[in-house]
Amino acid sequence: MATLQASGLTLAYDKVTIVDELSLDIPTGQVSIVVGANGCGKSTLLRALSRLLKPAGGQVLLDGADIHSKPAKEVAKTLGLLPQSPTAPDGITSRELISRGRYPHQGLFKRFSAQDEAAVARAMELTGTTDLADRPVDELSGGQRQRVWIAMALAQETDLLLLDEPTTFLDVAHQLEVLDVVSELNRTRGITVVIVLHDLNLAARYADYLVALKGGKIYAAGHPTEVVTEKTVKAVFGMPSRVIPDPVAGTPLVLPIGRQRVLRTESVLAANGIFRGDAPVNEPQALAEGLEQDSAVIEEEVQAITRTVAEADPNLARPAREHLQTLAFQTTVLRSQELSPSFRRLTVGGADLEDFGTNSHPLDMRIKLLLPPEAGFGANGEIASLRPDALTSPAEQLGWYQRWLAIDPAQRGYMRTYTVRAFREAGHRDNLGATPELDIDFVLHGKVVDGKLQGGPATEFGDRARPGDPLLLLGPNKALTDDSYGGIEFRPGAATRIVLAGDETAAPAICAILESLPANITGHALIEVPETTDILGTTTRSGISVQWLTRGSAEHGSLLRDAVRSVVAIPGAGVVQTNADPEDIDVDESILWETGQAQSAPFYAWIAGEAGTVKELRRYLVRDAGIDRKQVAFMGYWRRGKQEN
Ligand SMILES: Cc1cc2nc3c(=O)[nH]c(=O)nc-3n(C[C@H](O)[C@H](O)[C@H](O)COP(=O)(O)OP(=O)(O)OC[C@H]3O[C@@H](n4cnc5c(N)ncnc54)[C@H](O)[C@@H]3O)c2cc1C
Repeated sequence: MATLQASGLTLAYDKVTIVDELSLDIPTGQVSIVVGANGCGKSTLLRALSRLLKPAGGQVLLDGADIHSKPAKEVAKTLGLLPQSPTAPDGITSRELISRGRYPHQGLFKRFSAQDEAAVARAMELTGTTDLADRPVDELSGGQRQRVWIAMALAQETDLLLLDEPTTFLDVAHQLEVLDVVSELNRTRGITVVIVLHDLNLAARYADYLVALKGGKIYAAGHPTEVVTEKTVKAVFGMPSRVIPDPVAGTPLVLPIGRQRVLRTESVLAANGIFRGDAPVNEPQALAEGLEQDSAVIEEEVQAITRTVAEADPNLARPAREHLQTLAFQTTVLRSQELSPSFRRLTVGGADLEDFGTNSHPLDMRIKLLLPPEAGFGANGEIASLRPDALTSPAEQLGWYQRWLAIDPAQRGYMRTYTVRAFREAGHRDNLGATPELDIDFVLHGKVVDGKLQGGPATEFGDRARPGDPLLLLGPNKALTDDSYGGIEFRPGAATRIVLAGDETAAPAICAILESLPANITGHALIEVPETTDILGTTTRSGISVQWLTRGSAEHGSLLRDAVRSVVAIPGAGVVQTNADPEDIDVDESILWETGQAQSAPFYAWIAGEAGTVKELRRYLVRDAGIDRKQVAFMGYWRRGKQEN
């Protein structure tokens, strides 16, 4: 049986320490569950334990050896990870997805063997997914889909299974279904399981070993009966509570105490056989005394029960940050900087951004800007209800986009897609403000008429915005997303040769990606911009050669097409030539957007910009150069002559 330990582990993003000198022995053959408040470092810890994140200090030891000294494929034979909210390629069936778990066991040219087939069949049987084998994953219910993902991790046949919030977004019945499958696997096959979970009561029920994290350190660890105490809950979650025996499982059950006044708490608890303290408080006299002594606490208890009910009820309102993956962030323009004749950088900041991000490098993270009509603020009621603190229910949010779209644009304004060029937490060495801030680089397209730029609502906003102007944007909720977030498309898999190609609208994404690439990556970045003066500085530690192509009077995209042809020869690097035309997409009618998670191939291309140009590059790369489409992201960022919504 494999062993897993963290030894003096320090984990940091952008020099901000998330986990601080943490040491932990994962008990072999048991279910360990890590709990803690949002942002305490639990998902970060899991990423490091699974070799996805390199420590800033200390080590993760797999079978006694530094996990980073082992090749990824070797680690994958011992340790399986199910990340938070994984996304499956469109149209993939359950069986195909589960079969991908066999990848670490396959050699370079090896085909799917009888052994692989048997492992997939076993994984499906154990997770009860055999009947779902031929169904497309995107047609399954949340619980079924999660079981399929677990089956994929199981097909890997590892001794260790790590699961990051496997129950997020599932209703209570499906949460139990998933945790039951995992604990049964642990009992029947003896695999060691580590789970990050936000639900303390479920964690107490299913854990053999519970780890409570606070501020990146272990606050308490041990059997749930030792760890789940009122003191620990207060210290770790900042929440007063009562802890009583769970009437179903006998494990500790936490009843949170809220702040609002709710009457008859004690009698409600008593009616349910639940008593405070050691002695049953079931006599009117004792109840009256209790009320007198501690009325504030008592009043709060039923509120806690109400809250628990609220969490299970899609119609009850709670802060958006607790249940929405995409939030609206109210920001203020802090700086407007002319980078070149065609590029304007707006830096925006605000307290809402404390909930922004994926806890990782933004890469090509897209966000939506809500541009007010020039005459004033847009009618953003629909959007305002997505702000982190807004009290809203999941049911209320269904269909918000359609409702927003139906409002007259002259009132609601416009929504446009842009890239996070950079994000800096408060405290970052380059952020002198008290709140997080982010940079957005606007391409200023259009014509100047009477001294005023006329392009589209976004470019005009980028041009006219001044410090102090408000800007509402939509982006990821840090508490509920990680770097598997759907708004990031740069997914090179194991590729070490990379081509990044795009026009000026893709320049912010390409520059941000370049900043994140490690030294072992080689390839080309090709960026077509209007003028020589638009060549912006880029920094990269990678071996990628960066070429800025200046368009001048040439046709839009023509230089980019030629440059891609010259760096991706026919047939493309290490690929099978197909000679197949990709199916035609009318870029005037639909969006050209083909992306996916690249696999093990050594080559990956990321292409973005004007849709007509991207379409031509797609034809060249897929048909002529024969590149596997899983190894390419094609993204029509905008279409000549067409407005976004
Ligand atoms: C994922 C993603 C990330 C993006 N990131 C960025 C970014 O970081 N920076 C950035 O500047 N853009 C970016 N874009 C492109 C941007 O969303 C579009 O250019 C958008 O149409 C601009 O909105 P607008 O209101 O200015 O123009 P619209 O109202 O949408 O269009 C008005 C007219 O302008 C034309 N037009 C639009 N964009 C351009 C252009 N760049 N050059 C010439 N004509 C144009 C349209 O064809 C239309 O005729 C991104 C797009 C996507 C999908």
